[in-house]
Amino acid sequence: MRVFEKSLKLNNVCYDIRGPVMDEANRMQAAGEKILKLNIGNPAPFGFRAPESLVEHMAEKLTETEGYSDSKGLLSAREAIVKYDEKKGIHGVTVDDVYTGNGVSELITLSMQGLLDYGDEILVPAPDYPLWTASVTLAGGTAVHYICDEKAGWYPDIEDIRRKITPRTKGIVVINPNNPTGALYPESILKEIVAMAEMHDLIIFADEIYDRLVMDGKKHTSIASLAPECVCITFNGLSKSHLMAGYRVGWMSISGNKANAKGYIEGINLLSSMRLCSNVPAQSLIAPALDLLEETDTMLIPGGRVYEQREFIYNAVNDIPGMSAVKPEAAFYIFPKMDRKKFNIHDDERFALDLLKKKGILVTHGGGFHWEEPDHFRIVYLPAMDVLESAMTEMKDFFRDYRQAD
Ligand code: PLP
Repeated sequence: MRVFEKSLKLNNVCYDIRGPVMDEANRMQAAGEKILKLNIGNPAPFGFRAPESLVEHMAEKLTETEGYSDSKGLLSAREAIVKYDEKKGIHGVTVDDVYTGNGVSELITLSMQGLLDYGDEILVPAPDYPLWTASVTLAGGTAVHYICDEKAGWYPDIEDIRRKITPRTKGIVVINPNNPTGALYPESILKEIVAMAEMHDLIIFADEIYDRLVMDGKKHTSIASLAPECVCITFNGLSKSHLMAGYRVGWMSISGNKANAKGYIEGINLLSSMRLCSNVPAQSLIAPALDLLEETDTMLIPGGRVYEQREFIYNAVNDIPGMSAVKPEAAFYIFPKMDRKKFNIHDDERFALDLLKKKGILVTHGGGFHWEEPDHFRIVYLPAMDVLESAMTEMKDFFRDYRQAD
């Protein structure tokens, strides 16, 4: 009998959405058990609502947007993105350099498919948002992970990046603000990355989907604004900032030294045309959404829901003996560290399974983000405060006597 299987390394990608922990969660749910999901950055199930004016806008536009659009997207959407890029200091982007997608996810995959040959390397952060590693791998490339250093606020370790550049390195992925750590990178770090990219002719893939979810009066800097000499692709969308992940609205814009990437851009154009276009009613939201940037800001200041939940989760995690976490400055994730000795942890996936079975709490183990030491996990702190409070009480109770079996 013929066996159908792709020969790429599918077995080591995307542990956040599959694997034994998810299997067990699905089994428990099917058996009627209640599971508290702290594992997915999807605002809607936790009572966050998309801005009403945008929902109404899309409803009004439905009949006008029944056909395919230009494969890159509606002109009005791409003009709004160019304007947004300008506002972020990314100059020289034209509507021809902008591509809309069914979420950033589609464009991450497309950008890797259009670039990589077997053996090409892409520098990807560890911990990462796992779709990046998966997309590099599925495109036939090799993801080489550079360390983000917890002791340095989870900022990229510049020396580690330098050590890992080889003649086969084609690009570097920078996720800022970061999922899963919630870190926001200062300009000094971004400039060092740009200097390396310039020196080694690397394409910068800047995943900035959380750029508008920043707290503590901090400001996000787009790395592309510092890199006019590099080829830079900046990814953004409405899933997080406008709380509409299910609408599937994302985009990417190419900036900098585009002349150096003619062949690559031809490939991107081809792949973009092959998928015809992204969801057109959803594209119609981009222009009004980018005119509506303040609406969700109230969540991020003292008294706002995301801010207060961040304060709570940070204190609650650090209050558990044997646990610690860096305070996140952006997005809605925290990436706590467990004392391996105290809890005898040698397998973080096993820990996530134990927590699920004992307390019905679903988190993603650090290995799901390509973090090698089995000593971290990610909490999504989107659920309402009362839910978070009871989750953290249960978690504290779990860790009181947790010793992982040998
Ligand atoms: N990039 C990062 C860092 C993310 O965290 C996510 C989603 O969680 C995505 C991209 C994908 O977002 P989208 O909903 O636009 O596909």
